[in-house]
Amino acid sequence: MKYPKLRELKEAIKALILGPYTTKFPNVPHCPFPRFRGKPVPDEKGCIGCGACAEVCPPGSILITDNLTAKPPVRSLKWRHDFCIFCGQCERICTTKEGVKLSNEFNLADLKRDNMFSEIKKELVICSECKEIIAPKDQILYVAKKLGVQAYSNINIIALTQQELLDNSEEIPDSSQPLRRQTAFKILCPKCRHQQWVFDDYNKTS
Ligand code: SF4
Ligand code: SF4
Repeated sequence: MKYPKLRELKEAIKALILGPYTTKFPNVPHCPFPRFRGKPVPDEKGCIGCGACAEVCPPGSILITDNLTAKPPVRSLKWRHDFCIFCGQCERICTTKEGVKLSNEFNLADLKRDNMFSEIKKELVICSECKEIIAPKDQILYVAKKLGVQAYSNINIIALTQQELLDNSEEIPDSSQPLRRQTAFKILCPKCRHQQWVFDDYNKTS
């Protein structure tokens, strides 16, 4: 028992000389340590809306909602600060490494929990035939950039980058023709693309 008492005495003397470890916040502004993990801040430009961060978030505090009735359809990504445990997994796993960063903001108190979130929205690309979600537009353009010239092997990427180049937000017009080779440059989900090629090659739909 002798040694623990001496250790406590040493700590007490140190605290008397150096002052307490605790800060005087909120009376005195507090400056967190450089590696402090605070509020996650998503970046509209850096995020491509892929949702990889939501897959790894331990408490499930990143909520993804797709609104297909909006014009254009959008994906909303919400970082709920009231559920967040500030583990930093979303920043670590981020596909682009620029989508979300943990800031040193720690004062997140609010009277309403529903106000405690950061949100970004991403335009969705949907299948022009069955209206299934393909991916967020920024995610497809990010993949196209990564692939370089190899991106030209993917019809959806060609069609989408063409729309971007022509600054044309309208989809390639729906020809109301069956899925045949002449409609090859429509933006299609994998299932409809498969039907298109099978129908074209074997004259059947599946
Ligand atoms: S810091 Fe951790 S808990 Fe908070 S949003 Fe990111 S992954 Fe989820
Ligand atoms: S780009 Fe990063 S922050 Fe955005 S959804 Fe993907 S993993 Fe999350």
